[in-house]
Amino acid sequence: MRVLVTGGAGFLGSHLCERLLGEGHEVVCLDNLFTGRKANIVHLLSNPYFEFVRHDVIDPFKFEVDQIYNLACPASPPHYQYNAIKTIKTSVMGAINCLGLAKRLKARVFQASTSEVYGDPHQHPQQESYWGNVNPIGIRSCYDEGKRCAETLFFDYHRQNGVDIRIARIFNTYGPRMLASDGRVVSNFIVQALRGEDITIYGDGSQTRSFCFYSDLIEGFVRLMNQDAVTGPVNLGNPGEFTMIELAETVLRLVGSKSKLVHLDLPADDPKQRQPDISLAKKHLAWEPSVPLEEGLKETIAYFRKDMEA
Ligand code: NAD
Ligand code: UDP
Repeated sequence: MRVLVTGGAGFLGSHLCERLLGEGHEVVCLDNLFTGRKANIVHLLSNPYFEFVRHDVIDPFKFEVDQIYNLACPASPPHYQYNAIKTIKTSVMGAINCLGLAKRLKARVFQASTSEVYGDPHQHPQQESYWGNVNPIGIRSCYDEGKRCAETLFFDYHRQNGVDIRIARIFNTYGPRMLASDGRVVSNFIVQALRGEDITIYGDGSQTRSFCFYSDLIEGFVRLMNQDAVTGPVNLGNPGEFTMIELAETVLRLVGSKSKLVHLDLPADDPKQRQPDISLAKKHLAWEPSVPLEEGLKETIAYFRKDMEA
């Protein structure tokens, strides 16, 4: 198949491009390099079946493809809040452009949605049937509401135009190729520990997240895309739940760092807890994560060590 991956030069997108090429597909990678970088795909550029197109997903595009994965959108709070209006445009207009293309081509289209659609959840763990608790006017809303609107568009194109859709709700995922300046918690803690800098805990650090290693997630993407039982939304994430203090202590131990924990203000609307219920993914995709947190952290730490030396 010929497959379009928007956001293909980013952390998850570049791993997905690599996986698809490995399966013998042709890949068109579309990215504006806002948070992505050529270094993530430089090893793919000499592959005749790989094509990089520097383009903004907000502007219409035309390619002849069989499948579309829509990942273009900054995912880290500092990056998506940097230009909030651009972020919401990216989610909404990016979805419209992918769906319009899918409609014309009769191609299957996949949306990288997020656990943020659940907001600061009152249901725990979160099931796909939960409608969420999202502030529509806060500093996270450009991301959360943008992704919620994208899901709405996916379902409206599906109902109205018969577009063949798949939606994954991704929970916090980490691994090699995250930027040192990404700003999300796993990369922040690892980079701070390696540099011997203070570990920045926002709030008291009792808030929880569930961390999935990138390789497990990419497997989930491909399984969801290539089965016919469910359109989604399907939660993809690792149900192992940790407080930010637990994460910081684990990172310090694995790095062998003497960095101190310092507490900074908790950002507005920061969800207190998050854990995926992955029953749907288990049932329909026979999928569940296999990489435990410590193992994934070790690989990510090794990546950042090398990246920082370079
Ligand atoms: P990332 O920031 O590394 O990747 C996003 C990519 O999209 C980057 O390469 C960036 O340059 C590109 N991009 C951003 N705006 C664009 C635009 N207007 N036009 C074209 N390209 C654009 O983040 P990631 O973690 O790889 O996330 C990939 C996708 O998965 C995102 O849609 C994100 O919302 C979703 N997601 C990720 C996580 C996670 O924990 N990693 C969790 C939930 C959802
Ligand atoms: N966080 C933290 N220190 C950091 C970065 C993040 O304590 O240096 C916290 C943040 O407040 C949140 C959790 O870690 O409670 C996860 O943050 P991240 O930005 O990785 O993802 P999200 O909040 O979008 O789930």
